[in-house]
Formats: sequence, C-alpha cells, structure tokens
Amino acid sequence: MISISALETLKATLRGAVLTAGQDGYDAARTIPNAMIDRRPAVIARCATAGDVIACVRFARDHDLVVAVRGGGHSVAGKSVCDGGLMIDLSTMKGIRVDPARRTARAEPGLTLGEFDRETQAFGLATTLGVVSKTGIAGLTLGGGWGHLHAKQGLALDNLTSVDVVTADGRLLTANASENQDLFWGVRGGSGNFGIVTSLEYTLHERGPVLAGAVFHPASKAKDVLRFFREFSETIPDELVIQCGSFTTPDNVPVFAVAACYCGPLAEGEKVLQPLRAFGPPMADAIALMSYVQLQSMFDPFFPPGRHTYVKSNFVRAMNDDAIEAIADCAGTSPSRFSFAPFVEHWHGAATRVPVADTAFPHRQHSFNLMLWSNWEDPAEAEKNMQWTRASWSALSPFLVEGSYGNYVSDEGDPFARAAYGPNYDRMVAVKDKYDPSNFFHMNHNVKPSKLRPEAISA
Ligand SMILES: Cc1cc2nc3c(=O)[nH]c(=O)nc-3n(C[C@H](O)[C@H](O)[C@H](O)COP(=O)(O)OP(=O)(O)OC[C@H]3O[C@@H](n4cnc5c(N)ncnc54)[C@H](O)[C@@H]3O)c2cc1C
Repeated sequence: MISISALETLKATLRGAVLTAGQDGYDAARTIPNAMIDRRPAVIARCATAGDVIACVRFARDHDLVVAVRGGGHSVAGKSVCDGGLMIDLSTMKGIRVDPARRTARAEPGLTLGEFDRETQAFGLATTLGVVSKTGIAGLTLGGGWGHLHAKQGLALDNLTSVDVVTADGRLLTANASENQDLFWGVRGGSGNFGIVTSLEYTLHERGPVLAGAVFHPASKAKDVLRFFREFSETIPDELVIQCGSFTTPDNVPVFAVAACYCGPLAEGEKVLQPLRAFGPPMADAIALMSYVQLQSMFDPFFPPGRHTYVKSNFVRAMNDDAIEAIADCAGTSPSRFSFAPFVEHWHGAATRVPVADTAFPHRQHSFNLMLWSNWEDPAEAEKNMQWTRASWSALSPFLVEGSYGNYVSDEGDPFARAAYGPNYDRMVAVKDKYDPSNFFHMNHNVKPSKLRPEAISA
C-alpha cells in the first residue's frame, strides 16, 4: 500500500502526471498493444524529464515497489507493465534534435520509430530502426533493432553513440565510448537490465527514396519460395534486406510473400531485384520507389493495437532442405488469419560483421531468424492459437539454435534469458553486479546479479 500522503508528495515532485486506478487516463496508460497483457500498476508516473525518472526510482526504492519501464509499449512479453508497483511511463518524452552537420540525432525514449524517422528524414537522414512505425525506439534499440537498413548500417544499437541512464541508485550517468564504457556495452543488447535510458544519441546516414515492397506467391508455393529465398540471399549486396513468410491478405488470401528494401543506387537496385521479381512469377508484385517514411509504415495495417499476440522466435541453425520442408509445412496452417507465421528474416551485412563481444547483443553469426508471430482478435481463441504455436514450434525446433533475439519473444523465464544473451551473459552479470546489484530492474529478459543467482542462494 502506498499512503495518500506519499502519493501527494510524488505528484508535487514530478512535472508529469501521476495516475492511479479510476483516474482519467489510467486505463489508457496501462494498456499496451498486446491484449494478452492486462496488468494494473498501483501507480503510473508519466515522466516528463530525466528529473522525473530519478524521482520515480527513488520513490520506488523508498516504498519497495516493483518497477516497470514503458517506452513504446511494444514488448510482446508485456515487460513494460507491472501488477501493483510503479509503472514509469516514458511515452510522453518525445523530444528529438537532429544535427545535420554532425549527422546525429539526440532523442528521448518516448518516441516511436515513425516519429523519429519523420524528423530525421526532414534532413534527408535516417538510421536503422524496426519495420512497424508505432514501435518505441528505446526498447527496440536497447534490445537490438533489426530493420530495413541493418545490412548497410548495422542494427539500431550499432548506431547508438551515447546514452543517459538513470541507475538503480537514482544517479544519472552518461555512457558512451569514453564514459562508463561497461554500462554502454551492457545497454546495447541488455535492454532495461541496467537502468532507465532517458536520452539516446544516434549516428544518422543519408537516406533518399528506396526501392521496396513485396512480391506475393500462393501459400502452397512456400517450399519453392523458401528455396529461392535461400539461394537469392547468398547473392545480395548490403543495400538489400529481405524477409519472407506466410500471412493472409486483408481480402483473405493466404500468401507466402517476400518483402524487400533496396537502399542503394536505383538503377542498380532494379538489376539486383530482377531475379526476385521474375521468380515464380509472383501472383502480385508491389515493389516500387517510395520514400523511406512510407516504407516504414508499410506493415502497420497488419499490426493494429488490441490484438492478442504470442510469439516464438529463434535463429535457424542451417537453412537446409529439411529445415525448409518443416517451415513450409507450417505455412498457411495458423488458425488465425491475423498471424505472421512462419516468418523468416534474413540477417546479413554490417549487422553480422560486428564482433560478438563488441556489444552485449550476441547474435551476429546467424543468417536466418525464424518467427511464429501469432495474432488473434477473440480472447476465446487464445488456447487454440497458443497450442498451434507451441506444436508448430516443437516441429521446427530441431532446426533452430538455442539463442533467440529477446525483443521478439513472449515471456520464457530465466533459462531463456541466459540463452538469449549467449556468450555475453557472464560479462552482463558483472555489469549488473556493478550497476544494479539488488535487481531493482527485473521487468525485462532478466540478467540476475550474482548474489541472486540460484547457486548463490543455495550456498
Ligand atoms: C508489431 C511489432 C513489430 C516489431 N517490429 C520489430 C522490428 O522490425 N525490428 C525489431 O528489432 N523489433 C521489432 N519488434 C520488437 C521490438 O523491438 C520490441 O518489442 C521492443 O522491446 C519494443 O520497444 P518499446 O519501447 O516499444 O517497448 P516497451 O514495451 O515499452 O519496452 C520493451 C522493454 O524495453 C524496456 N525499455 C523500454 N524503454 C526503456 C528505456 N528508456 N530504458 C530502459 N529500458 C527500457 C522495457 O522496460 C521493456 O523491458 C516489434 C514488436 C512489435 C510488437
């Protein structure tokens, strides 16, 4: 229980609003896009500044409250909302300043990637973020950040040059290549494990229009398309990013599509994309010249807020014929027409040339990331859809490595977190021991500090 007087003190301290159950805005603030997550924080603090965040951390410590940190709210695992406790909501912190001469952007953590892209594109610049415009830049970047520019420019976190972080003891630290280097290493992949990031500085790159869109094939052709996808992926330059998978079009046609974005010289792009556009041939070709901002909202209509979402995702060990057969067998079989399952992202180029130990994010060596992204509307269909996802995953698991990209998965518990951080896990524990030894920040794919690890507790 938090006393009324404590709440009044918090309200008087913060510039942003403080909300409790029953107040206007409380339900909207606790609601995130994944309708599977229905949690009720005791208090929601809509922070306006880093000072507000510091005050919230101190308040939560003083009152022994669980803390959840919300950026864009797109965690499929629902890590940004807690039951009871304090939800530190950063979603109204939307400042951004582009420096076109230095080609950098200083951004606040409440921005969505669509808002960030619109501002940087006003200067003809961009950096890698994700592919759905409503996703928050903070959770996406701190966990990884795969998107249309990753092969040319690296993941979103590879473009991060400096962050301000409020740590568990309520200090604001700057972390970059010359200050608090261990913290800077950890936040690039460790997401919210080490503190609350209140400001992010990114490197930007020149970005004109792109040749992008998708080609569509019938779902029944999944195996042929996957074979083509594998062979085509071996030939493509860093300027091209491709992904493919099974979904249902808004007019109810099950398809297996290949989406593409070419970001190099346009005449060269026509040539590079020619085999993709000729293969099949496709039943529809929607690849066209478009602005980068337009591309970044291309997938938005497929991911409206309020659907129920359950995701499994791991990297593919080797995309051999058996793996292709298993993936194709699952295409078009989801019980929901809103699912993107199975779906395969191709990871290559700059993002995969970064050494594994350079940042906490370890997944630099695998070419294909497989997802079962199950979405449905009716809560009564949860069991059917989760059951399908789990059964399909069992059939696919012989072809997958243990580690997954944490940003994509529903909650899988401690062993999963360990596998997701791979060979960087022990170094992350050392960073956790230094900056958050009591595990104050644990609403994330959690790295437990040494003293809370099972072996330490049982000793
Ligand atoms: C529809 C959809 C599309 C997606 N597309 C992509 C994609 O193309 N590429 C990709 O790489 N990922 C993608 N993702 C995954 C996405 O990267 C993660 O869900 C990411 O965590 C979302 O960030 P957020 O700020 O919106 O989420 P939130 O739910 O607000 O936060 C996610 C996690 O990050 C932590 N966090 C958020 N902000 C901060 C902060 N300022 N400081 C410290 N910790 C913080 C939260 O506490 C939480 O643990 C997608 C997800 C969805 C639902």
